[in-house]
Amino acid sequence: MRIYLQNTLTGNKEEFKPLKAGFVSMYNCGPTVYNYAHIGNLRSYVFADTLRRVFEYNSLEVKQVINITDIGHLSSDSDDGEDKMTKALKREGKPLTLEAMKEVANFYFDKFKEDLDSLNIETPANFPFASDHIKEDIDLVTKLEEKGFTYAISDGIYFDISKFPDYGRLGNIKIDDKGESRVGSNPEKRNQRDFAVWKFNSELGYNAPFGKGFPGWHIECSAMSVKYLGPEFDVHTGGIDHIPVHHNNEIAQSVCAGDPYAKYWLHNAFLNVDSGKMAKSDGNDTTLKTLMDKNIDPVAYRYLLLTARYSSPLQFSWEALEGSLTALKKLRNFTAAKDDDTPDDFSKLEEYKTNFLQFVNDDLDTPKALALVWDMVKDDSLSSKSKKLLLIDFDKVLGLNLNKVETVEIPENVKKLIKNRDLAREGKDFVKSDELRVEIETFGFEVKDTDAGTLVTPR
Ligand code: AMP
Ligand code: ZN
Repeated sequence: MRIYLQNTLTGNKEEFKPLKAGFVSMYNCGPTVYNYAHIGNLRSYVFADTLRRVFEYNSLEVKQVINITDIGHLSSDSDDGEDKMTKALKREGKPLTLEAMKEVANFYFDKFKEDLDSLNIETPANFPFASDHIKEDIDLVTKLEEKGFTYAISDGIYFDISKFPDYGRLGNIKIDDKGESRVGSNPEKRNQRDFAVWKFNSELGYNAPFGKGFPGWHIECSAMSVKYLGPEFDVHTGGIDHIPVHHNNEIAQSVCAGDPYAKYWLHNAFLNVDSGKMAKSDGNDTTLKTLMDKNIDPVAYRYLLLTARYSSPLQFSWEALEGSLTALKKLRNFTAAKDDDTPDDFSKLEEYKTNFLQFVNDDLDTPKALALVWDMVKDDSLSSKSKKLLLIDFDKVLGLNLNKVETVEIPENVKKLIKNRDLAREGKDFVKSDELRVEIETFGFEVKDTDAGTLVTPR
């Protein structure tokens, strides 16, 4: 079945046609490892993972790369001010050295990987670190210099966007506004949207033929994506905030260096809270640890994200998350419960499978896919065995760990009934023991007598 994706580059929903049959190359703009990721950041990676799972569900092999920015990301889209990693060193009272920067980066990278695992996100083929690719950055900047696309000013080497007439195509950005509001103003720049490919820093940084310093944040992504995926690759993703500056800059420098670059550009919308976008700088952020401290399985957050399409803004609330947790537990309990023997309607089974595929292949319409899951679970014309098999199959895309058995808290009254039943069995009063079994079942629990004792599971 065909896959359709909303391509920010063309503004259209397009049929996905991989460059190489049966294979997808995908680059996801990764985190800047200067702090713990918040759940808004993590929306980007659940989206990328869902996209990967959809490709795989369609029998396509995926090579996925998520870069790790551990140097060079300034605090905003502007080319001025401090970078995020230097800020982290100061915050943590560490010396301003490249070694200390690496230490901070490794710490938050490990935390990031733990977050990905908690959200059941598959591990990409590569997690390239920006600091390990300085040579590739220098080569790319040198190439752009040689081709005449750059110029030097007092604080760095800049890309001249007037040399790339297609600048701003991604997201149809109006470039005649000069972008001062977003990228700051520097009188030495020829155009305020010109961006640094290398920033000078005489004290801290890497040696380069054009001066000691750091690669620009955008150049890192251009250099690393091409190194791991080749000069032309299929998919590039990131949050919508990357469209106006970061991704247009990546395209400009890569295309001018001679790389055709990514074919399909996909962007996830924000996770919002009452005060607006969830952002660390606004102090309204929540981490996965906060969820876990409240005894909420992080996969419930994944469920919540799937209730909205990746490209729609999503309002976060604890009530919505609790609702997702309940729904998740119901699905898991359903897969764990014993089978009935309802006869199967095979044509219906096929219909559910086809529709599910059609929904997820329609630019990841996960809200419709989830609605279908619930229709299917409630459908009396199918046996529970078939429904479970379908659920586990759909879970290849949903990633909700649906075959994980929920540990359900047994209420006190049920515990008492279980104890009484054990006593009745000890006294060989099987009539009473059977009556108690039926009573326990009315509270939603099933009793099994095993060699290891009485086993009680949710029905
Ligand atoms: P950063 O680590 O700051 O580079 O951000 C990592 C990713 O998180 C980027 O792709 C951002 O677009 C994305 N992001 C940041 N805030 C949010 C949010 N509130 N909702 C969704 N994505 C976000
Ligand atoms: Zn990037």
